[in-house]
Amino acid sequence: MTAPSGSLRGASPRGRVWAHVGQPFTETAYDVVVVGAGRMGAFAARELRRLAPALRLLLVEEGGLPNEEGATLLAPGVWTARDAPPGREAEAAWTRAQLAATLGDVQFRAAPLAELGAGADPHPDARPTGEALADWPEALALLDPVDLPWARVDAGAATFRPGAVALNAAQEAVRLGADLLLNTRACPGEGGRMTLERLSVTNTHEVVVHERRAVQAAQVLLAAGAAGPALAEHALGVHTAHGRAYRQAPRLERPSGADSPTLRAGGLTLRPQAGGWTLVPAIWHRDPQGYVPAGGLLTGVLTGLRRETLEDLVALMDAVPALAGGGLGLGRSLSDVPGAWLALPGGRPDAPPLWQRLDDTHTLLLGGPLADVLGLSVAHDLAATLAGTEGRPWAPAD
Ligand code: ADP
Repeated sequence: MTAPSGSLRGASPRGRVWAHVGQPFTETAYDVVVVGAGRMGAFAARELRRLAPALRLLLVEEGGLPNEEGATLLAPGVWTARDAPPGREAEAAWTRAQLAATLGDVQFRAAPLAELGAGADPHPDARPTGEALADWPEALALLDPVDLPWARVDAGAATFRPGAVALNAAQEAVRLGADLLLNTRACPGEGGRMTLERLSVTNTHEVVVHERRAVQAAQVLLAAGAAGPALAEHALGVHTAHGRAYRQAPRLERPSGADSPTLRAGGLTLRPQAGGWTLVPAIWHRDPQGYVPAGGLLTGVLTGLRRETLEDLVALMDAVPALAGGGLGLGRSLSDVPGAWLALPGGRPDAPPLWQRLDDTHTLLLGGPLADVLGLSVAHDLAATLAGTEGRPWAPAD
């Protein structure tokens, strides 16, 4: 394995970490710079260090690890085979195996997922809701089984903490020799020239650029989440069809247990977490260019939930009466409800994660709504392609 350059050359293969502007950063060239240490970028960095240890790699993150404003921290952390697009089941299973066994403690927990439905023609696997949820009265108590008479249970589903995925993958990448630069905004440019803006916070809590550094990268991975397509456009002039959506994750304070199932009804996911439930609303469409998230009105009162999410929850109140019972965290303003921008690959809410070459030097890596089931495999595939190794451990052997 090639040791990183600089003061550590010849010593340990471990990479260096610059957490704040007090630590001088004097590097000027890397083989690969990964922009963004969400789970997509961090895992791609880790896989690149494993597969191509000779490449000098820098992982740059605008915030901390994980960034509190990234999509990763607020991702549902729900793995279910139901979310694997047709033909990609083996790849999803590979991602599950990574989460379960190879990434350190991501609080992986096998937890069934019950998809609830109405209608006269239920799925052949569906069972009456009361029967399917008999072992979990705390889950049944949230629902009206008359409105939602059928439940389809995925016994192989699991929950985990996506923020821990990003943290562990980045730490592992550093352990394997990647350099990591935190609190630094990368501004990519033509031909792999890049400006790094090292950020600091003033005593009036203003984020300012403390210094600018130039680096040259042979390859750049834009793993900047929802900001990736805009970076491609502004910095490189490459237009893409990708979009983004602002998703909030309100809390429902009704009791959940350590082994409660994840529930899904009408596109809403209810994930048991910290003794209550985290709600993950469906994404129906991309947000228009220039949309600024704002709280919506419920019976004339301003809330912290955006209008689309409120409408979804109100529409579900008959089927999930717990939503109307006072335990729902509506907030008073946007800052009361956790939310994050999420990339929508292809501008579609149901499109899987992807990577895409933008030019000879830059590749865009997008997670999005299905990153829980396919994010790690797509990040691996990109790393393997860059490393020039055979990329698809999930593919059946010929
Ligand atoms: P994903 O699920 O694709 O990993 P995230 O939003 O969690 O998406 O991660 C993207 C990360 O990229 C965030 O942590 C964000 O702070 C970081 N990021 C976005 N733009 C830049 C940039 N220009 N320079 C460095 N980091 C960036």
